[in-house]
Amino acid sequence: MRAGLLGIWAQALHVRPTLASNPFPTHHCYARSAVIDTHCHLTFPDFAGQIDQTLARARDLGVRGCITISTTTQDCLRAREIAQSYPNVWHTSGVHPCYSDQVPHIWENILDCALSPKCVAWGELGLDKAHAEPPLAVQRPLLDEQLALITQARQGRACGRTHRPLDLPIVLHCREAFAELIPILRATSVDPARFVFHCFTGGPDDMRALLDFGAMVSLTGVATYKNARLLHEAIRLAPLDRIMIETDSPFLSPEPKRGVRPCEPGFARYTAEAVARLKETPFEDFCQVIDANTKRFFGVEVPG
Ligand SMILES: [Zn+2]
Repeated sequence: MRAGLLGIWAQALHVRPTLASNPFPTHHCYARSAVIDTHCHLTFPDFAGQIDQTLARARDLGVRGCITISTTTQDCLRAREIAQSYPNVWHTSGVHPCYSDQVPHIWENILDCALSPKCVAWGELGLDKAHAEPPLAVQRPLLDEQLALITQARQGRACGRTHRPLDLPIVLHCREAFAELIPILRATSVDPARFVFHCFTGGPDDMRALLDFGAMVSLTGVATYKNARLLHEAIRLAPLDRIMIETDSPFLSPEPKRGVRPCEPGFARYTAEAVARLKETPFEDFCQVIDANTKRFFGVEVPG
């Protein structure tokens, strides 16, 4: 049956059905390269009722999995639910600094979600100076509270409970706040290699600070924008084994989809291609390194 089909295919394409010839059109070859979108927000209203189709389109583009990121102590519950419904979706647990004023924060939810088998990281958490609200005076205590929770959870004793010790990596949101955030992280007992600065859009100085600290860096569609020259310069500084790829969807669609809303996990493909070009690395080789980084950092493996 297979051989017969191959023959028909081969006839249609005027190629001989031997192992040496490849009857598949080029875009099918691309689908063998796997990329995981390490940061998206499938809980956002843009994806309501659309997750099946969104993940199918991602697969067609060679993006075979994604990590949906928590932003509040309610949103984490929905992220967990989505991850439990799809074998190739994982989730995180944490409160985004821009939601630090959305009180009360139900820390039991964060711990419960972190204990879920498909939870692969804490976050996103950090500091955001690009927005005036909420002010740092509100963001900072929330960050301290989360880092304290993480430290307790690593010992297996958080929220007044005894549980299995949680050794999860941490997804950071840092906008224009490298000078403030890095010393705070350095003061924790967490290995710097367990932090990733998501959606890095800074210049060479921010990149050097992050690399010297020892963290990973994650790149979005902004890396594909032609006018992002300082960012491109920064990316050239980063060793390949420190880089991961994400979309931050529904935001920040990469070229050639710039301006399209929602951005979706499949678009990680375009960012991966652009960053591979910046790093002057063949796309297949680039994907292999990126996948290995994702596996090492999040413990997530691309399903076959
Ligand atoms: Zn995000």
